[in-house]
Amino acid sequence: MTSPALAQHLIAGELTGDAVTERRNPAHVDAVAVLAPEGGKAEMDAAIAAAVDAQRAWATTSAPARGAVLLTAAHLLTDRKAQIAEDLVREEGKTRAEAEGEVTRAIGVFQFFGSLGWASSGSVYPSGMPNTTVSTRREPLGVVGLITPWNFPIAIPAWKAAPALISGNAVVLKPAEITPMSATHLGMALRDAGLPAGVFNVVHGRGSLVGDVLARDPRVAALSFTGSTAVGLQLQQILNARRARAQLEMGGKNGVLVLDDADPRKAARVVAAGAFSLTGQACTATSRVYVTPGIRRAFLDELTALAATYVPGDGLDATTTMGPVVSDAQLQRDMSAVQDAIGSGARLLHGDASADGLHFAPVVATEVAHDAPFATDEIFGPIVAVLDVDDYESGLAAINDSPYGLTAGICTDSLARSTDFAGRVQAGVVKVNRPTSGLDLHVPFGGIKDSSSNTFREQGHTATEFYTWEKTVYTGVE
Ligand code: NAD
Repeated sequence: MTSPALAQHLIAGELTGDAVTERRNPAHVDAVAVLAPEGGKAEMDAAIAAAVDAQRAWATTSAPARGAVLLTAAHLLTDRKAQIAEDLVREEGKTRAEAEGEVTRAIGVFQFFGSLGWASSGSVYPSGMPNTTVSTRREPLGVVGLITPWNFPIAIPAWKAAPALISGNAVVLKPAEITPMSATHLGMALRDAGLPAGVFNVVHGRGSLVGDVLARDPRVAALSFTGSTAVGLQLQQILNARRARAQLEMGGKNGVLVLDDADPRKAARVVAAGAFSLTGQACTATSRVYVTPGIRRAFLDELTALAATYVPGDGLDATTTMGPVVSDAQLQRDMSAVQDAIGSGARLLHGDASADGLHFAPVVATEVAHDAPFATDEIFGPIVAVLDVDDYESGLAAINDSPYGLTAGICTDSLARSTDFAGRVQAGVVKVNRPTSGLDLHVPFGGIKDSSSNTFREQGHTATEFYTWEKTVYTGVE
């Protein structure tokens, strides 16, 4: 039996903390995957103080030198990829291929933001005043807090930390309780890459305790959060009250519209990949599909056949194509959503409300009311509701009739329809003939409505805007 991985806090450059909490492997719940410390107010205070102490020197380090550290971290993550991915599978449950893909994403993020050390970070303008030029520069905010979820336990911390660090901020990360090892690996890679002590800190512990302390501390200039809408909105109040900058990326209920002119097999592949990859545990996962009458039957046949091809199991087994549900709490949520849907008259074309351990087969449900919780509330499992609509306009209206607005998709051969959809759908990301999940790292990402604070976008060049403020400098030369 493999011995548990050991997660630790990273505070002021030191790995610390006694292993007092156990994280079980979701594929084998009797096996301990990770031992981790549980931080409290003292650890969070120490991490914020270390970040305050380290930040000025880091901000005055040249941007190319800061970038070089991030590029070295990318190299180290590359060297350690197999081990990090294996630990990630054990603590979170996704398949090895999905975990390696996630580590590759983190590497790409550090490469992208590392190279920004050489990029322009301001503009020069002519002035209306004589013998004067005007320039802008971007200043770091100081110390920033990051609070992250379990479903992308290394990629999300990476895509928040890298733009913060290249911009000259110091960081305190509070990762999700159930995935402490991935964040520890990230901390070790940055430390080993030569990041000065205190510039990047990790404190494990309960969100309602250490996350709350991080959000309330006046030394923390800004907080970037990804997680559930309920927690995000709570944090928004705390941050607004102390006028700290907030970036909140939250839940989703992502819809796809499948039109009669689409190829049913291709549309089913798009929907299955969006709904069932990562065990449906992606904020961008497809969870409701609207179909027009002419394609309904063929599309459902194809989707049901594809659902049957997934092989649930331990993500480290080569034959597994769907890892377990992350936790018993999430499994209960998945099963009760399906149970409620059955109780309300839904028909299941694949899957049911039962599980083997935390292994849960994909669910395809039809005959669901448009306003049933199954079709309106985020579930976060490999579960998709297929609902009927009369035509394009009613499908578009159904997708927009949601408090969420993260991703949305359309399957169609019509350029006119897809162009109209891209313009009118209420979502931060639109996918035409592509799964709602799966994103490039160099383009803006974020939601609208209850999916996001919709203030600053993550990823790509625009990500640095959240972590900086713009200053305008007039220079007179007589
Ligand atoms: P969660 O909201 O339960 O937890 C997220 C983080 O917040 C964790 O680190 C947790 O410890 C912390 N937290 C919890 N209570 C807190 C509090 N009172 N104060 C401060 N911090 C607190 O979410 P989760 O279950 O880890 O993740 C799943 C959710 O994340 C889903 O809703 C999913 O849609 C969302 N998500 C969104 C995106 C996106 O980019 N929009 C990406 C991934 C996941």
